[in-house]
Amino acid sequence: MSEIIPITVARGDGIGPEIMDAVLFVLNEAGAGLEYDHIEIGESVYRRGVPSGIDTSAWDSLRRTQVILKAPITTPQGGGFKSLNVTLRTALGLFANVRPCVSYHPYIKTRHHNMDVVIVRENEEDLYTGIEHRQTDDVVQSIKLISRPGSERIIRYAFEYARINHRRKVTAFVKDNIMKLTDGLFHRVFDEVAAEYPEIQSDHLIVDIGAARLADTPENFDVIVTLNLYGDIISDIAAQIAGSVGLAGSSNIGDHCAMFEAIHGSAPTIAGQGIANPSGLLAAAIMMLVHLGKGDVATVVHNAWLRTLEDGTHTADIFSRGISRQRVTTMAFAEAVVARLGERPQNLEPVGYAKAPRTVGSGVTIAPFKPAHKDLVGVDVFVHWRGGSPEAFHRLIEPLTGERLVLDMISNRGTKVWPGGHDETYCTDHWRVRFLGRGGEIQGNLVTHRDIIDLLERFQQAGIDFIEVMNLCNFDGKAGFSAAQGQ
Ligand code: NAD
Repeated sequence: MSEIIPITVARGDGIGPEIMDAVLFVLNEAGAGLEYDHIEIGESVYRRGVPSGIDTSAWDSLRRTQVILKAPITTPQGGGFKSLNVTLRTALGLFANVRPCVSYHPYIKTRHHNMDVVIVRENEEDLYTGIEHRQTDDVVQSIKLISRPGSERIIRYAFEYARINHRRKVTAFVKDNIMKLTDGLFHRVFDEVAAEYPEIQSDHLIVDIGAARLADTPENFDVIVTLNLYGDIISDIAAQIAGSVGLAGSSNIGDHCAMFEAIHGSAPTIAGQGIANPSGLLAAAIMMLVHLGKGDVATVVHNAWLRTLEDGTHTADIFSRGISRQRVTTMAFAEAVVARLGERPQNLEPVGYAKAPRTVGSGVTIAPFKPAHKDLVGVDVFVHWRGGSPEAFHRLIEPLTGERLVLDMISNRGTKVWPGGHDETYCTDHWRVRFLGRGGEIQGNLVTHRDIIDLLERFQQAGIDFIEVMNLCNFDGKAGFSAAQGQ
């Protein structure tokens, strides 16, 4: 009898309870040796007026078991509710989101016969930090945060994952031709880490052509590592072209906790009908068993599931005339898997999990912190102004420059409009004024916080509505800020 391990279970919303019942039935029949601590999260908790969608008692359970099997939940649109998924991932430090997307040709209809891609998505940073502001009448902003440790951790995780799972290649998807600092950092760290894994091939693609090629020829990809937003988008594409979003599971891994879930949502339009495919959550449960060191049970369940797909016993979302043999309900699908426990697929590749490490996350260490030499060399002051042309705005700002600063440029929505802008550039009420230290940027350390405070006082006295102030710094002599478009 294998060790009994407690896990937290959240049945979720929409189709969540139906697919969770089906999956727990399979796990129990397979003798998984798990003890369930059920928590309530999602819609019902939001409705009780808890804006995070999760109660204190649920956090206690998560900290105790450190593992959660979670069905999808419905996120109320707007109205001050934060996404519970993002809250769980960030609060528990679940930095790696791993999403295998596999096709099962000829048993599940797909154009891609040899697809076996694993998407490793950064899970805590990027535009998902949710730092958003309305700044002017016309403009709202969302801040994209990328950190070196965050990038290093996820990239190392991807290479460690590739090594442990005998994968041959890791590809980074970035957009550093445009976002040179944020995506550029991710790319640089990727190159550094890749050099430590010479036995694994590595390459990178700009995310737009990368996504197009993934949708066209997924067989050319193996492990993909990417930033949070790109990972979210491309993993849905990958799961859908593999056969159905209903098939893919995912793991969210941290140093202390892990969360396993289907990649799809709560599918409210088919909830309560007993027709949802439980495969995505079952695939997640298999990843959980491997994580818990129950690779033997994972092997039995996974092979029985493959055999079920192969036998043509399919839920409605993957049912296809000429391919499928029997259209079944959610629970009948689970019963079909249980009936095949101990069997292996006859044509699809059977799986065989070793007793894998319990916590892959804690195997990833990052390089020690090395502070850079930092010089304050200027400041960007963002202004809400609707008074006229760039020239008029320049006439207003020029006298405020003071003795220790030079006015370097003015941009509107990021595009340079002074000196030497284009008449065609459309201007809103969102302006940026860049000031540099009088001695020039490269001499460094020419600007002090006092200079910036004095500058802002001159803005205030002139009645100019400054909305954001961003210091410009050099790090080890290299500019830590981007040029304006057109500069
Ligand atoms: P969805 O994934 O719920 O549904 C997309 C489409 O796929 C629908 O046609 C649905 O019927 C179908 N589908 C999804 N899962 C299926 C399954 N297992 N079997 C058969 N068909 C399936 O996406 P959505 O409609 O954009 O979102 C619905 C709700 O889910 C929203 O409130 C959203 O915020 C939430 N959501 C939650 C999670 C999560 O909890 N991890 C993830 C994504 C979306």
